[in-house]
Formats: sequence, structure tokens, C-alpha cells
Amino acid sequence: MISHSESLDVGGNKVEYILNDGSGANKPDFEVEIINADDSEEINEKIAKKLSDEVWSLNPKFKKEDLVEHFGIKLDSRVVDVYNFAEPLSEVERGSIIRTISRLYEMLPDKSLWRLESIQITHEKELNLKGGSFIRGREYVKQNRFEIYPQGRADNKYREGELLCSELQGVVTHEVTHVVFEELLEKNWNSPELGWVRTNDFRVELPGGMRSGSYNRLWKECPTSYASLTEADDRAESMVAYLFAPESLHEKRKSILDKILLKHSEEKVYPIVELPLEIPKFGRPLNINIVPSKIPGLFGTVTLKKSETPSPVITLEDLRKKLLA
Ligand SMILES: [Zn+2]
Repeated sequence: MISHSESLDVGGNKVEYILNDGSGANKPDFEVEIINADDSEEINEKIAKKLSDEVWSLNPKFKKEDLVEHFGIKLDSRVVDVYNFAEPLSEVERGSIIRTISRLYEMLPDKSLWRLESIQITHEKELNLKGGSFIRGREYVKQNRFEIYPQGRADNKYREGELLCSELQGVVTHEVTHVVFEELLEKNWNSPELGWVRTNDFRVELPGGMRSGSYNRLWKECPTSYASLTEADDRAESMVAYLFAPESLHEKRKSILDKILLKHSEEKVYPIVELPLEIPKFGRPLNINIVPSKIPGLFGTVTLKKSETPSPVITLEDLRKKLLA
């Protein structure tokens, strides 16, 4: 087994790592695909990219000098860390994050399923490839976290007023659903009855340009227009409606959520703890395995399989016109 220690600069952070060739017994923290194992420049580049993609605290977009707030919401023995790299939160904003997280935690029937560890609030703006407007939030399920973007803090009602809660209440609920509740909800989601149809012989182009392999034939029953774009977003938006505008949620969806989620007559708000303005650091060297790249090399031949023949594309708008005709 080849194994040696190195250190690398990732977004201004010095990261210690042990490089293995994958033949050892140690379970690696990360696996990196390399074309030429003798090319140390390629190895360093790929490791830096992998780490900044998969470890938020090593992503250059989160700079320690931009960190203005760091507090923890204490959910029994767990803590959800909130890191703010944007405008300081107002009292109302802070309160609404804490109350929304508390409510969602209370509704979870099995607390061991709570996997949300942190929230990062960023000042960067990005376009949403599904809906086409500015991103409100984005989940990173493997990292047990989500990010809140400036649009998620805009001072107006959620999704241009489609649901009567604030943008912040909406985005926190939506993203927590992806990170914590998705598995639970998906198991109980009666997709065909809720209108979801898989498309095998064509792709659907969403308003933001992204292509999808399904659509909702009963899109008017979805809690918001964004909910009608993908099934996971239907679930996330249904949770927003369930918490903040239950009378607007379609009975089919409401009965699923009634069955799964716990109800409480009193509102419980969990305590918070102020924490130092620090980004987490690794206390130990990372174990990194390098494995041969699956991408065809310079001399490899690329053969297109039948399944890779592009399928026809129809825009969601045109598809709906056809369904109404
Ligand atoms: Zn979503």
C-alpha cells in the first residue's frame, strides 16, 4: 500500500491529509478520482476541489472575516449551528429561525432522525435553475446542512405571496424538509394519486432551464407553483403550507402529513447559545484514497450507448397546454 502524509491549502486553510492508494483497510474520509497517479499537481487540484465541494468550512465562499454571527439552537442533546456570513439578523429574523426549527423538531416523531447540523447564511446571489428566479435556499443533504440566500430573507410574503408566511419561515421549513423529513415523507407520498407522472420517452424543461423526468398532471392541487416542478419540492412546499397556511393545503397532502407528524397544543421554543466567531476546523489529518478516474482518458474511445441518445424535450408550459387541450 502506498501511503504518505501531505498538507494542502484549500481556500486559505491548511489541510493535513494522508494519501492512500485504496488498498489499505482504513475507511477513507474522501475518495478522489485521479487520471495520472504520478502527477502531484493533478492530485492536489482534485483534492482541493473535492474538499471545497464536500466540506463547507473549506469552501472559499465562506470566509472567517465575513462571519458576523454564530449561535447554536439547542434541541435536547443536539445543537444546530447557525453561521451568518451576511447582514446581521434582526430580532424578528433570529426569532423566526429559532421558532421554525423548534416547531419542526417537535413535529418529528422519531428525534433520532433529526440530521440537520448547521445552517449557513450567505450574501451571494444565484439563479434557481428550476424556477428561474433567485435562489432562496439550498440543501446539502450529505453534509446535514442548508444555506439561506438573500432572497430567502426578502421582506415579503413567501414566493411572491403564494403562501402567507415570511420568506424566511418558508425557506427554513422548505430546506429542513429536504434534509430531515424527505425520507419519511417520500415513503408515505402517494405519487400517482397526487398527480405525479414519470416520463420515459421525453424530458420536461422547467422554467429555469433544468430538465426533469417527471411532471404533475394535477399541478393546480400543488401548494405553490414551485411545488409543481419536482416531487421533492412538492413535499417541501407542502410542509410550508402545513405549518403556516394549512387551510390552503389540498386535503390529499394534508392527510398524509397529519398521519406522519406529531401535533402539539403548546408552542415550545428551544434555547440558544451564543458561540465564538469561528469556522469548524479538522483536528486530525483526513484520510484520502486516490482511485483511477472513470472519465475516459486522452487515448480512450467514447462510445455512446443507446440510453444516451438524447430524448425529445418539451417545456413545462407547452406540456400543460397539451394537457388542458
Ligand atoms: Zn427545494
